[in-house]
This record gives sequence, C-alpha cells and structure tokens, in this order.
Amino acid sequence: MASIHFPTDHEAKQTILEVGRRMYTKNFVAANDGNISCKVDHDIIWTTPTGVSKGFMSEDMLVKMRLDGTILSAGSLKPSSEVKMHIRVYKENPEVMGVTHAHPPICTSFAIAGIGLDRAIYPEALVNLGTVPCVHYETPGSQGIPDSIAPYCKDYNAVLLGNHGALSWGKSLIEAFYRLESMEHYAMVLMYTGNIIGKANVLSCEQVQELLDIRKSLGIHAGGVPPCAAKPTNLKDVVAPHSAIAAAAEVRKELKTYSPGEKACGCVASPVSENENGVSDIELITQAVLKRLKDM
Ligand SMILES: [Zn+2]
Repeated sequence: MASIHFPTDHEAKQTILEVGRRMYTKNFVAANDGNISCKVDHDIIWTTPTGVSKGFMSEDMLVKMRLDGTILSAGSLKPSSEVKMHIRVYKENPEVMGVTHAHPPICTSFAIAGIGLDRAIYPEALVNLGTVPCVHYETPGSQGIPDSIAPYCKDYNAVLLGNHGALSWGKSLIEAFYRLESMEHYAMVLMYTGNIIGKANVLSCEQVQELLDIRKSLGIHAGGVPPCAAKPTNLKDVVAPHSAIAAAAEVRKELKTYSPGEKACGCVASPVSENENGVSDIELITQAVLKRLKDM
C-alpha cells in the first residue's frame, strides 16, 4: 500500500487560514459560520475554533485534536461543536484528508428546499463533484448530523445538510474546498437554468424550540421567534435515483451475454450480438432497463 503523504502542521494551518479567507470573501459564510479541518496524521487533525470569523483567523487560534476528541494543542479556543461531522467523515472514509463546511447562499437555498444537486447538465460538476444528496435535517452541532451524513461519506464527495448548508471533503483540504466552490457554482447554474426554487421546508415548532434552547445556552436573550410549521417536512434524505446508465450496467452484468466476444478477442463484444433465440442483447438490455426503471 502506498504510504500517505500528510501535510506538516505548518502546511495544514496555513491552508486552513487561506481556505477560511477564501470562504469568507466568496460569501460562503457570514459572521462566525463554517468550519474547516485538515488531517496531519492517521488520527490527528487541525481544525477551526468556535466563535471566530473564518476570514480573520491566525495560526494560534487553530485547534489540534485526535479523532477521539482529545485536544492536543494548548490554545485557549475550543473546536467548533460541528467538528463532530468532520470527524465522522474521516472515520467513515480514511482516504479523506480535508473537510469544509459552509453556508453558501445558493447551496443553502437548495438545502432548505430539500432538493439535491443531481441534474446532468454540466461536465465539470459531474466529473469533479458528481451528484450531491441532500440529507435530512438535524439540529446543528448535534450528534444527529454526523449520523445523517455517515451513509454518504464513501460514495459521494459532498452533501447538502437539510435546512443548514454544505459539507464537502477530498484527498486534500484544497480539493475539499474546490468541491465546495464547485457545489455553489453547480447550484447557481441549476438555479439559472430553471430552478428558481420557490420552495422552503419551514422548520417545525419542535425544531425551532431546540434552536431557541441553544440560543439561550449561548447567553443570547433577544432576537424574536419566527412562525414555525406544525409538522417537520425535512426528515427525508434526497438522493438521486439509481441512474439509467447504472441500471444498464447492472443488467448487462446479470445477462452475461458478452462472454463469447470477450473470450475471443479479449475486448468487449459489440452490444448488438444475437443469442440463440435470435434476440439481440441490446433488446434484452433495453427491456430489462425499462422494467427496472418502471419498478423504481
Ligand atoms: Zn453550519
């Protein structure tokens, strides 16, 4: 197995500061929102502290910690409560070296509408990012968020957090940040091409009450309370349906009608070979795919 190249402490901290500045200047976060982390050893990360603007951080504010939650650096600031979701990504997918979380306005609007980013409209997004599921709502900072993203950490590069924001990861912190940029760009193109969203999952009264409790625990005693929905409408994950291409590949595997061609030339046979009943493979595949799509 190839050995992993970890950034040094200095490189990791400098990259976090730079990503923080870019996040802030690109309007991906407001005030003290968002968080960033970078892995420097198999179970050690540097991450951003709570209560600090990501646009104005210095190295001494950053926190070094183990993935079991042990704080290693001697700084006075605590890590964000949202570091739990970063840790979960690292645990679920050991290849990940960096994670970013922000509230980019267009991504966040899709997250509030409960709509994933999953239309095949633009090559760069498809190649570098893929589809982006929207996971169901959980209270920010709660254990519910890490649990909600866990199923997606290996097979996707990013998720929208229902009624909350965006989370991305990569094999370097810069890659994670580029994916965050790509997500917002993809969301913007989706919006311009006909998805002026016009839909919002308003938080339920119970969800609002949880947030009011958090507000109180932070010592904030002013601010008003908006009207809430009687029932939550944001409790389902939104994931792109099994695509027709993937369905076709699966059916092809099941039919196993390609083996003679493969044996003869070591290459993939023409899709229009006929079996002993005179039915072409392509017809069988088409029928099976159509049936599968109908059953979905
Ligand atoms: Zn957040």
